[in-house]
Amino acid sequence: MDSQQFREAAISSIDDIVKYYDNIESHPVVSTVEPGYLRKLLPDEAPQDGETWADIQRDMETKVLPGITHWQSPNFLAWFPSSSSFPAMLGEMYSTAFTGAAFNWVCSPVVTELETIVLDWMARAFALPPCYLSTGPTRGGGVIHGTASEAIATVMVAARDKYLREATAHITDEEEREDAIALRRTKLVALGSAATHSATKKAAQITGVRFRAVPVHAEDGYKMTGAELRKTIDALHAKGLEVFYVTATVGTTDTCAIDDLDSIADVLDEIAPAATLTPEQKRDGQGEIWVHVDAAYAGAALLCPEYQHLTPVLTRFHSYNTNLHKWLLVNFDCSVLWVRDRNWLIDALSVSLAILKNAHTDSGLVTDYRDWQIPFGRRFRSLKVWFVIRTYGISGLQAHVRKHIKLAEDFADMLRTRPDLFEIVTGPRFALTVFKLKGKNQTATVQEVNALTKKSYEAVLADGQIFMSSTVVGGVFAIRHCPATPFVEEHHVKKHFEIVVAAAEKTLAEA
Ligand code: PLP
Repeated sequence: MDSQQFREAAISSIDDIVKYYDNIESHPVVSTVEPGYLRKLLPDEAPQDGETWADIQRDMETKVLPGITHWQSPNFLAWFPSSSSFPAMLGEMYSTAFTGAAFNWVCSPVVTELETIVLDWMARAFALPPCYLSTGPTRGGGVIHGTASEAIATVMVAARDKYLREATAHITDEEEREDAIALRRTKLVALGSAATHSATKKAAQITGVRFRAVPVHAEDGYKMTGAELRKTIDALHAKGLEVFYVTATVGTTDTCAIDDLDSIADVLDEIAPAATLTPEQKRDGQGEIWVHVDAAYAGAALLCPEYQHLTPVLTRFHSYNTNLHKWLLVNFDCSVLWVRDRNWLIDALSVSLAILKNAHTDSGLVTDYRDWQIPFGRRFRSLKVWFVIRTYGISGLQAHVRKHIKLAEDFADMLRTRPDLFEIVTGPRFALTVFKLKGKNQTATVQEVNALTKKSYEAVLADGQIFMSSTVVGGVFAIRHCPATPFVEEHHVKKHFEIVVAAAEKTLAEA
């Protein structure tokens, strides 16, 4: 494909994409293809000779679109959104055009410098404490990872190494120190709550440490409390195990609960007061416990001053992440991780190679983001963030978030108009409402109500007009409604309500 052919193909592709977005509601929201559908449509061998763009593009309609579930549809209410915008797509296009591995500053200085600047902008816009700024008092800073799971695995590695480094700092003999580290590693435990996303458990598997879940309770709104955290840590310490890491969540995946950050910070100050721990205490298994705050989805709301009361406590923690690709109009992938001290990442992840040596790195004046992440090479992701911030402005992004929060409140109000059919389990919180059906009568058991809710949920899925996900919280089967996709409007939410009412009425009539 030469540049003229590219120009024509790109214009035609953009026309196609615009048509797709303009008609997003004309597609069934969930793909209905059967497993293996594509193998039947594609040849067994790769084409021997090149094909024309027209032939390739034709297959988008016939072979690709049928296998797409339309995440940008206003009828997509499942999980959390993965939002999209035209400026972010343009950012992706330019980023692809300038493609390179960009592991060090010298690879393409703008890739590093723009990332640092836009993440400082975002940290300020989210009202994160100054310790998370690249220019802040503690040498903090932000870095873009692909996903929250990568961010969590990365900070867990940094937390593990920091803990072990401090625990063995008193041993001067190198070999003895290595042995001590190997022994201590076998005792390490990472914690999250029972509602923490599975990314933390996976990070523990990758890091080679145990994972334990702190119980959460319906009466606390499924948030992790300091008291429960303390009980879990005390029980683990009694067994000779060492807790080095905790994930606290702002906006848990099931119900968007906010862990009780203040009481968590207080408890950790009591157990392992970072500022006053002596080398002897660290040696004896009382190291500082790293707290990572995972705000993968709900963190977007911190753009709005009405949610910023959540951020001052972050000075007492170590790292924080939010996915701009979930709710903030930056196309997948873009998960931002901020740390209070970038050296924690660099100490754990930096490797020196002769081929990487360059005067800029040696000067100490530049950031080499390869040392802040697991992969070596990296994409120019900050471009799409920059385009989105400049196109919408912070006020536009705040309006975007507030619109969805209001739509979810409207939906919850509608559910409340039918107390004969529905009961809200949690929310609406951060645009997520979790609800279930009412039992046939007062004496219905949890199992009977679960069965009714499930039947009604399956009827909504089978109807195919809208797509919601389900969950089980505290033994209760519940339906999640999260209208946080870009094009959802008031009339869509009314339609969602009518659909769930029709399914619930039918289910209860047949019960
Ligand atoms: N953390 C929370 C709270 C989530 O809800 C999710 C996914 O929805 C994740 C982490 C994992 O996100 P990612 O796909 O970016 O790894």
